[in-house]
Amino acid sequence: MHILYLRTYLLRSGNLVESQKMYINQCRRLHLLRNQAYVNGEWVKAKSNLVFAVHNPADDSVVAEVPDMDSKDAQNALLTASNAFQTWKDTTAKERSRILRRWFDLCEKNTDNLAEVITAESGKPLAEAKGEVAYGNSFLEWFADSARHINGEIIPSPWPNKQILLTRNPLGVVSVITPWNFPFAMITRKVGALMAAGCTCVIKPSEDTPLSALAAVELAHQAGVPKGVVNVVTTSRKNAPTVGKVMCEDEYVRCISFTGSTTVGKILYGLAAKGIKRVALELGGNAPFIVFPSADIDHAVDQAMLAKFRNNGQACIGANRFLIHEIVFDDFVKKFKARIEKKCVLGPGTKEGVTCGPLINNEQAKKVSGLVDDAVAKGAKVLSGGKFAKNLGNKFYESTLLVDVNQDMQIFKEEVFGPVATCIKMKSEEEALKMANSTRSGLAAYIFTKDLGQAFRMSKNLEFGMVAINDGILSAAEPAFGGVKESGIGREGSLHGAVEYTDLKYTLMSGLDK
Ligand code: NAP
Repeated sequence: MHILYLRTYLLRSGNLVESQKMYINQCRRLHLLRNQAYVNGEWVKAKSNLVFAVHNPADDSVVAEVPDMDSKDAQNALLTASNAFQTWKDTTAKERSRILRRWFDLCEKNTDNLAEVITAESGKPLAEAKGEVAYGNSFLEWFADSARHINGEIIPSPWPNKQILLTRNPLGVVSVITPWNFPFAMITRKVGALMAAGCTCVIKPSEDTPLSALAAVELAHQAGVPKGVVNVVTTSRKNAPTVGKVMCEDEYVRCISFTGSTTVGKILYGLAAKGIKRVALELGGNAPFIVFPSADIDHAVDQAMLAKFRNNGQACIGANRFLIHEIVFDDFVKKFKARIEKKCVLGPGTKEGVTCGPLINNEQAKKVSGLVDDAVAKGAKVLSGGKFAKNLGNKFYESTLLVDVNQDMQIFKEEVFGPVATCIKMKSEEEALKMANSTRSGLAAYIFTKDLGQAFRMSKNLEFGMVAINDGILSAAEPAFGGVKESGIGREGSLHGAVEYTDLKYTLMSGLDK
C-alpha cells in the first residue's frame, strides 16, 4: 500500500498500535521512510513477524521498526534474485543503463529526503548526509554510463581457421553486505556496478542503518528496476551471523560483496571459500597522513580536517596516524589544534551549524574512549578534547588531538573510527615509510610534500591501495577504490568496479575456412 494511503487509512480507522503511530509521525517528517523489507518488488515483513527498532544515535529515540529477518527470509530473497537474474542478464546494456539513469535522476531529485533518513539513523550532520547522497549517487550515474562499456576482446588467433573471443558475462546473484557509516553510498557503489554488469542482488544493511537502504530501493522501485533485481533483507545484529552464512553459502550466490570490518570480512571470506564464490571485500583501514617539511602547512591542516573529521572520523579512509616531520611538527600541531577547536561543532545532525554528530552506537563510543584512555595511560598528551561531551548525550565524543603518541599504543595499531587525531613526530622519509607500512591494513595513505621525487618515491613504496598527494579527499566514482593487504580484495568505482561482477568467457570459433 502506498504510504500516503496507509497513513490516511490507519488514521481514519483509529485502530493504531504505538509502533504504527510512531511510524506515521515519522513519515510526516521523513518522506522516504519505509518500515518493511523489500523482496521481489514488494514491501514485506519477516516470516516470523518479528521487528527490531532503529534508533537515532543523537538521542536514542526510535526512528522506525523494521522486519527482523532470518536465514529463511534471506534464502527466499536469494531465490527471488536468482529468478530475476534469468531475465535481467539478457537485457541489453543500453536498457540497464537507462534504468540506472532513471534511478540516479530520482535520487538526485530526492537528495533532501534521502539525506533526512541518513541523518535520522546515522546521526551525521545534514550537510554531510547531502554530501553522501551526491557521492553515492555519482556511482549510479557513473555505472549508468559504464554499463555500455563492459567490452570483451577478440584476440589474434595462432590458428588460421579459428577466432578467439573473450566475452564478459554477469556472475549471477550477488550478496551485498554493507556497514552503517555510509549507509546509502556503500549500497549504490556496489549495486550500480553489479546491475550494470547484469547481476541481481540481495542487500543486507547494518542493524544501525537499514532505513537508508530501504529509501534507496524505494527510489529504485519508482525508477522501474524490475522486481527481484534488487532486494533488501533487514536483520538485527543478533541474526547477522546466520543470515550472513546463508548469504555466503547459498547455492544461488555467485559473489559476496562486503564492506565492513576486517574481522567480519575474514569470516565471510572463509564461508565464501567453501563454495569457491567470488568475493569483493572493502575492509578496514589505518591511514597514515604524512607531512614533510616542503609541504604547505596551512593547506595540509585544511586537508587534515577533511581526512580526519569527515563523518566524525567514522570513515574507512579516515586519517588515523599523523606522521609529521620534526621540522614542521610544532607548527602543524598548533594550527591543527586551533582549527579543530574552531571548526568542530558537536551536536545532533539536524541542528544548524553542527559539523560533528554522535558516534553510531555505544559499542563504538566505548571503543573510541578506550583507545584514548589507553594512549593517555601510556604517556600520550591530550591537546584538545579527550572525553565525552556528556551534556549532549552518551555517544558524543569531543573532537580530540593527541601528541606524544608512540607505536606501542593501541591507537597507533588500530583503526580508531572516531574523532581522534594522533600526531607522531618523524625524522626522515625512511622512518615515515617504515611507520606507515607497519600495519596489516593497506587502504588509503596521504602525503604532503612539494618535492616531486619524494611524492613518487612515497607513492611507489607505500603499501596502500590508494595514495593521495597533497589532498585529504580521494573518493569519487571515476577512480578505482580499494585496499591491499588486510584492507580487502577487489575494486569499486571506475570500470574495474563493474568488471568485478563479470566472468571472462573464452569462446573458440573454429572451422572458419570451411
Ligand atoms: P562490521 O561490523 O564488519 O559490519 C559490516 C556489516 O556486516 C554490517 O551489515 C553487519 O551487520 C554485518 N555483519 C556483522 N557480522 C556479520 C556476520 N558474522 N555475518 C554477516 N554479516 C555480518 O563493520 P561496521 O562496524 O558496520 O563498519 C565499520 C567498518 O567498515 C570499519 O572497519 C571500516 O573501515 C569498514 N569500512 C570499509 C570501507 C571500505 O570501502 N574499505 C568503507 C566503509 C567502512 P550489523 O551491523 O547489523 O552487525
